[in-house]
Amino acid sequence: MHRDVKPARPHVSYGWTAFVLAVGLWGMGAPVPRPPVAGVDGWTQRTWVVMGTYLTVRVRHADSAYAERILDGVIDLVQDLDRRLTLYDPSSELWALNRQAGGPPLPVSEPLWDLLERALAYSRETQGAFDVTIGPIVQTWGFLEGPRRVPSDEAIARARARVGYTKVELDPSRRTVRLTTPGMVLDFGGIAKGYALDRAVELLQQAGLRDALLNFGGEIYAMGTPDGGDRPWTLAVRHPRRPDRVWREFPVRDMAVSTSGDYERFFFQGGRRYSHILSPWTGRPVETDVVSVTVVAPSATEADALSTALFVMGPERAQTLVGADRCRYVLWIRQQGQHLIEDPRSVWPPRPCPSQGSRPSRTPKSNDPSPDIRPQ
Ligand code: AMP
Ligand code: MG
Repeated sequence: MHRDVKPARPHVSYGWTAFVLAVGLWGMGAPVPRPPVAGVDGWTQRTWVVMGTYLTVRVRHADSAYAERILDGVIDLVQDLDRRLTLYDPSSELWALNRQAGGPPLPVSEPLWDLLERALAYSRETQGAFDVTIGPIVQTWGFLEGPRRVPSDEAIARARARVGYTKVELDPSRRTVRLTTPGMVLDFGGIAKGYALDRAVELLQQAGLRDALLNFGGEIYAMGTPDGGDRPWTLAVRHPRRPDRVWREFPVRDMAVSTSGDYERFFFQGGRRYSHILSPWTGRPVETDVVSVTVVAPSATEADALSTALFVMGPERAQTLVGADRCRYVLWIRQQGQHLIEDPRSVWPPRPCPSQGSRPSRTPKSNDPSPDIRPQ
């Protein structure tokens, strides 16, 4: 995971603001104006810094000691994923796998295998717009360890030659992974937070909890309802250029929300803005008038991967990937001259999905017969 996402950085405080908005809007426009208070109304909340950003989990259970124990379990789980997936620690599993690029296959743990299978399935579905092998391009632009800069055409070409999800070989019988080209770097920055959220939600459900709100650096999963009743959570899309402002509110229940935007991590050079979402095809930051894309989907892994992919694809090409029939909702915000507008190809607001149970729906795996991701 990326380590430049430090709490002190403004984009993280944006993520935090999104959460504050999410909670602050609780019940807005509804008859119950008072937001529940942690420690009161059966709510217990904890915040940690993990994967270089904030994770806040708020759960509702009458026994607060029990809730605390469950939250201990959540942070153990997420820290375990972080240790495996960090790109900064030579003792991490991901480090070992990347170092092995161009060499023989390496056996990997169940979580890394599971995440990689899902990531590759989204690559196939998005025809490579989402590409977990994007690491060399991210590095070349300095988004991994800095300094951020516009690289030479030669450096971009060298990086692109080491990128491509078809260069990853999986052997399910041995659970081994081979990165076929020397210098390949897997980077789960576009999907890992969502995946961690899904695992955390599974844990909460197994523990018998029904109502919870999880925010992982702006990736959100809204479980159940704010008060155990029928009214869903009210969340907000933040204004992409005015972080203190709400763009739109919307209801969510047992669904995940993910936003990818040009404002999250970027740098300016020569008066141009270069954002951290990169096109695997050009090896450059995506050039688009899309300012942000918000995806609501049954699983956080799906919402996270898709919001990154959709930002790369743009509203026209992404149309077949979204739709109420697939329980995938999208809000496109685009720059038009001095103004921000919502693209009419948005599928919004999100509605409850008919077949949506109380579990995050399974995301596709590499051996699934079809890339179609309908809620199970
Ligand atoms: P997100 O904020 O979820 O959209 O993820 C952005 C992060 O995903 C970047 O910081 C990179 O680590 C990684 N990334 C950038 N471009 C891509 C891409 N085309 N496919 C997959 N991951 C990407
Ligand atoms: Mg993402």
